[in-house]
Amino acid sequence: MSRADRVAARLAAREADLLLVTDLVNVRYLTGFTGTSAMAIVGPDTRRFITDFRYVERARAEVEGFDHERAPQDFAAALAEGWPEGGVRLGFEDHHMSVRRHARLRELLPERIELVPAGGLVEAERALKEPGEVEAIRAAAALADEIYAWVAEHGVVGRTERAVAVALEQEMRRRGAREPSFPSIVASGEHGALPHAEPRDVEIPEGVLVTLDLGVQLDGYCSDCTRTWATGELPGELSAIYDLVLRAQEAALGAVRAGPTGREVDAVARDLIAGEGHGEHFGHGLGHGVGLEVHEGPRLSRSATDPLAAGNVVTVEPGVYVPGLGGVRIEDLVVVTDDGCDVLSVTSKALTTVGG
Ligand code: ZN
Ligand code: ZN
Repeated sequence: MSRADRVAARLAAREADLLLVTDLVNVRYLTGFTGTSAMAIVGPDTRRFITDFRYVERARAEVEGFDHERAPQDFAAALAEGWPEGGVRLGFEDHHMSVRRHARLRELLPERIELVPAGGLVEAERALKEPGEVEAIRAAAALADEIYAWVAEHGVVGRTERAVAVALEQEMRRRGAREPSFPSIVASGEHGALPHAEPRDVEIPEGVLVTLDLGVQLDGYCSDCTRTWATGELPGELSAIYDLVLRAQEAALGAVRAGPTGREVDAVARDLIAGEGHGEHFGHGLGHGVGLEVHEGPRLSRSATDPLAAGNVVTVEPGVYVPGLGGVRIEDLVVVTDDGCDVLSVTSKALTTVGG
């Protein structure tokens, strides 16, 4: 079955006949279209692809298996017609649609077309990676590993966080990445206690921890990997925290397989960290899905009730952040299998010292 077939098969459960796909990443997943102005309509016997005149040529080259419609630049106008006879329940991506766009849609559609919230249908398919997608993510993860090796070789001590971040992003592009899959994090010392720290114009000193979190976008697919390095001899408290996070990360990796919920896997790391008195210092979820987007389903967190499935690609990234002292996060990217997981990140997790 094609991706569109599989999404169409999910429609009945949401009491919809057709799905209007307006999120561009979802459009890309279903149709292969890489432009920035298009929508698709999918149902058991419907494959409509609508773009405006600027993208007609690109669509012809990229989109197969859909009926192509060329619309004016205000391409939503195409939705005034082209519908099957009678009453139609049209699912729409309510988690991506603005109130304004919804009102406009209602205005354009014939009255007999009922709008039904149906967000998340394409995302549910996207969470189950095809072998070709896993290979693309594996290549993106390998490039992130190459960047770690490159940074370690060039050193970080005496350079500013920003300089390191700028240099490594330039290097990923030089090696073929389209762009970073998110703004790279380089956070040293106390600044490492902020999970989403922005790189500062501050030199990285000796004798601290520095957390690097980076990923690349390669051939449309993302990677995501975090390592925390030492820049010299560490105070005992910091090396103890490093050991704790590493133990939690490896225990959680050992729990990843098809079957348990995201919350159960999250709890493996969380309980271990809480047992050492750092529960309040691990404020985020254990991980997230990665694919066309760097944050997608499924989630590994306290509120994730869906079971993991073979073919999910997720991060496993516990962290401990102690205000005023510093932070440690260790993140691998893994493919969920029936009896475990296949770890895509290969950069060493043993506490590594990187100098100047
Ligand atoms: Zn990350
Ligand atoms: Zn992540």
